[in-house]
Amino acid sequence: MVPTTERALLLRQLKNYLLFLKESGHTHIPLNHELSELPVMAVPTGYFQDRSAEPSESRMTQDSLFSEPQDHPEELLSLAAVREDLGDCQRCKLCENRQTIVFGSGNPHADLVFVGEGPGADEDAQGLPFVGRAGKKLTEIIEKGMLLDREKDTYICNIVKCRPPGNRDPERDEVAACKPFLIKQLKAIRPKVIVALGKPAASTLLGRNVAITKERGTWHEFEGMKLMLTYHPAYLLRAYTRENRQAVYEDMQKVLEVLNA
Ligand code: SF4
Repeated sequence: MVPTTERALLLRQLKNYLLFLKESGHTHIPLNHELSELPVMAVPTGYFQDRSAEPSESRMTQDSLFSEPQDHPEELLSLAAVREDLGDCQRCKLCENRQTIVFGSGNPHADLVFVGEGPGADEDAQGLPFVGRAGKKLTEIIEKGMLLDREKDTYICNIVKCRPPGNRDPERDEVAACKPFLIKQLKAIRPKVIVALGKPAASTLLGRNVAITKERGTWHEFEGMKLMLTYHPAYLLRAYTRENRQAVYEDMQKVLEVLNA
């Protein structure tokens, strides 16, 4: 009988491993391994919180994790390396109340990346970004408004990876602690277009106070990538007017023009 604490740890490791596979663009779990070679050992060292007990000789290299053919292995490794670097992050006080680090999800080679503000309760519980009400609205914008597939055509992340208590805005020190990982994430994916969802994301990426109502729909540049500013889907839900919906629709049409150019 496995002790409860050990079982909890194993379940947590399994959850983290599955999230890692998803973040890395895997769509299935290979089943042709012997039990002793199951890929829990194949995750880059540092990915799991509790790896100290793992014998170093049993760890596989990052190369072995990506032994299946990949279109852009260097980019895949790079995004995985950013996640590994983040580790069980405690660089700001948001680590105190989080359940999971919400790193990001979608296609690591996507041409389009959406950047939001931070995880909410649903995201914190599931470890995935934009899965609550605002997430459903974002999915609708992507799939019905842009006729794209959320999982295949986009990657979605936030400026902070841990849930701010009570869904408050992330504070300056929290954004400062987490921003380097967002930058590395975006550089690893290097999409054609980044869309900043709402004022905090736009202000963080542009490094200045953005008046989103005035500046939405305008193009900017971030590290050589095109950056579009638009409203956060949560704002759309709060102010569900024809004018606001039309504004986001127009912003996304501009994004599509660049993606299809
Ligand atoms: S919000 Fe970012 S910097 Fe702060 S603890 Fe979470 S992952 Fe680390």
